[in-house]
Amino acid sequence: MAPLIISVFAVSFISAVLAGGLAVSKVVFFSYGLCKIKINDKKELTVQGGQTLLSALTAEKFFIPSACGGKATCGLCKVKVINGAGEPLPTEEPFLSKEEIKDNIRLSCQIKIRNDISIQIPEYLFNIKEYTARVADMRDLTYDIKQFRLELISPAEIAYTPGQYIQLYVPPYPESEGEIYRAYSISSDPAEKKAIELVIRFVPGGICTTWCFKYLRPGDEVKFNGPYGEFHLSNTDTPMIFIAGGSGMAPMKCLLHQMVNTNNQRKCVYFFGGNTEKDLFYLELMKDFESRLPNFKFVPVVSGPQAGWSGQTGLVTEAVTRQFNDLKGWEGYLCGSPGLINACIKILTERGIPKEYIYYDSFA
Ligand SMILES: Cc1cc2nc3c(=O)[nH]c(=O)nc-3n(C[C@H](O)[C@H](O)[C@H](O)COP(=O)(O)OP(=O)(O)OC[C@H]3O[C@@H](n4cnc5c(N)ncnc54)[C@H](O)[C@@H]3O)c2cc1C
Repeated sequence: MAPLIISVFAVSFISAVLAGGLAVSKVVFFSYGLCKIKINDKKELTVQGGQTLLSALTAEKFFIPSACGGKATCGLCKVKVINGAGEPLPTEEPFLSKEEIKDNIRLSCQIKIRNDISIQIPEYLFNIKEYTARVADMRDLTYDIKQFRLELISPAEIAYTPGQYIQLYVPPYPESEGEIYRAYSISSDPAEKKAIELVIRFVPGGICTTWCFKYLRPGDEVKFNGPYGEFHLSNTDTPMIFIAGGSGMAPMKCLLHQMVNTNNQRKCVYFFGGNTEKDLFYLELMKDFESRLPNFKFVPVVSGPQAGWSGQTGLVTEAVTRQFNDLKGWEGYLCGSPGLINACIKILTERGIPKEYIYYDSFA
């Protein structure tokens, strides 16, 4: 009996020593104390070390775009590191081009703060705010796309550049594991400052869209931050070709409202693609834009037309190539899935639009 008691005691003692050692080494090696984050040489935050740069910035209400909640799957939370962050991790590499790595661009969700760090971000991110709003209206645009109208509570007004997007906060709910944010382009008339509208397509199994379509109700309060993004009309008179599919309509609609508000006379042809007529929406509104903008033309395209359809058929890219051999001197504006964006960039560059004049938001 005595040897058994001694061995139990010995094992417990060794385990206690190991656990204690681990706890001490955790404190000694992993507690980084307070660290400073210097932003654009004009703002300094003091934060607890050991957390990620993205978490630290978000906790200080300093918002960097991020859609995946820090899992290194969206690649949106890029910042330029001046010093203090070591080498990029393998998790970051799929999202960084060779030029970006050379330029010290990093994913802020993958940088652990171990010491003072100095970063550079686009100036517009200093104006990002967190908003609360009430869902004033939800309406079906198609069988899988809804328009959401959010009336602002606080701050009471929002200013943004047409084409920009916000990040909608999704709280934990029965079918999701934790809180997340997702990006949605503002679709409403930018003249309106007290509300924004979003055009959201339901993604089967998607965390945010399931919440929006199944759980969100008119009258509910929501939270978002923004505005983000650099997709906007250039300040030129160059003719423009817009191409979008599905909810890619959202920022295009906002740009068209802006063109009406500013009496913009630029030539603009907008190709909008869907599988069938059931995927088309805002057709009356597009007619209205055509009547208000003398040089605007809307071209709906369906790949699987039903009897009676007299418009363009095929893929939206095929409709563009049928109509245009040469687009030299034009600008391209694209919005939709990464597949659509890549296919459009290919045909537009082949027809003479340099890549730097093709602007897009990829709904990745
Ligand atoms: C700048 C920008 C602007 C955008 N604007 C708009 C807009 O105006 N309108 C709009 O509708 N969308 C927009 N998006 C896309 C939007 O942000 C979301 O990506 C989209 O709504 C899907 O979000 P979700 O949370 O519902 O789907 P997610 O949960 O992100 O899922 C996406 C896909 O992954 C699959 N998936 C999820 N989890 C798993 C898993 N564990 N295993 C396997 N598969 C899985 C889902 O089934 C689904 O097919 C924009 C994106 C960006 C980057």
